[in-house]
Amino acid sequence: MIYRLEDIVYVQVEVTSKCNSACPQCPRNVFGGRDLPTLPLVDLTLEDCQKIFPEDFVRSIKTLYMCGTYGDPIVSRYTLDTVRWLRSVNPSLEIGLNTNGSAGNASWWSALALLLGHHGYVTFSIDGLEDTNAIYRRNTSFKKIIENAKIFIGEGGRANWDFIVFKHNEHQVESARQFSKEMGFSNFTAKRTGRFFDKNHKMLDKQPVLNKNGEIEYFLEKPEQPQYQNQSLSLYENVVKKYGSFSKYLDQTHITCNAKRKSELYVSAEGLVFPCGWLHDRLYGIQVEDTPSSKQLLAMIDKNGGMDSINAKKRPLKTIVEETFFNLIEQSWRLKTVAHGKLERCAVMCGERFNTVGHQYDEKGHIHERPMTLQTHSKA
Ligand code: SF4
Ligand code: SF4
Repeated sequence: MIYRLEDIVYVQVEVTSKCNSACPQCPRNVFGGRDLPTLPLVDLTLEDCQKIFPEDFVRSIKTLYMCGTYGDPIVSRYTLDTVRWLRSVNPSLEIGLNTNGSAGNASWWSALALLLGHHGYVTFSIDGLEDTNAIYRRNTSFKKIIENAKIFIGEGGRANWDFIVFKHNEHQVESARQFSKEMGFSNFTAKRTGRFFDKNHKMLDKQPVLNKNGEIEYFLEKPEQPQYQNQSLSLYENVVKKYGSFSKYLDQTHITCNAKRKSELYVSAEGLVFPCGWLHDRLYGIQVEDTPSSKQLLAMIDKNGGMDSINAKKRPLKTIVEETFFNLIEQSWRLKTVAHGKLERCAVMCGERFNTVGHQYDEKGHIHERPMTLQTHSKA
């Protein structure tokens, strides 16, 4: 067993798979262009959340944060009602949202701040200033984000600013940090991106950004200044040198599950339950199509009884976590190699020498110990 349900401390919920933006390294779209045709566009309603999370469970956890893999919580019309319900069940629950910040009106942001109170936060993912943020956060308006953040902070909300550093915005990190202080953000973090890998784990120098017709519009590039470069890039080279190839490393590495270590659980907008979003992101995306890690996970879900068998709208959370699917995941870590069934995704993300892209190193090289805001809005 990975853990018992009563051991869970952090819960990440993807309340929707919809989004107003099109970040080029987000799996919900095709490199910043059109939405993935295969992605189900769904929300978790208040009733879904009430069904999935028994009240005793809500009272027992420390933090529930709305982030996810494919969507942004500000675009769901159920988010405020769900926050209101969570707050009524557990007045001291820490409730967090990770968002691009570019939707919602003044009354929405004001209500959110009042509901979160002292036990909550919003992490705004703003990767630059007015002239650069939308290069990554495509279709967003810097002006609107700042207006929304001002309302939220003005009503007493605790706001964090996460800034993913690229070549096109690295010259603005210090001005953004200063601006965040003037605005009253509680934290500012410049994040070192570890996303410059293709689906075969090959390092990329630059990432093409596509329009809706699939044509290249421009490229994203890694930052040039060493303090903003992700350690995973050099770790990758070390691992290949030591083991002969990255796949040999994946076969041999010992897995230390980050979700287990942090007692964290993940629920998707469809109601699917995983230990972490790093497994959920194998289901849909141009970067996972036909990859071994995706096929392996789908085969495991089939073996467990299909998608409904890991859906907490259809099966109790406790059954999925303690009796079925999570045990298959854990058993896979002890298998000899990826070919024998060891989950490749787990070896990539939680292996001993290259725990990489999801780990969000700040500019001092510290790994964030906030809950694993591993995917969407804080993608690094
Ligand atoms: S990728 Fe696998 S090992 Fe890592 S946190 Fe997720 S389930 Fe655990
Ligand atoms: S990373 Fe977040 S904000 Fe960007 S497209 Fe994905 S869900 Fe939307």
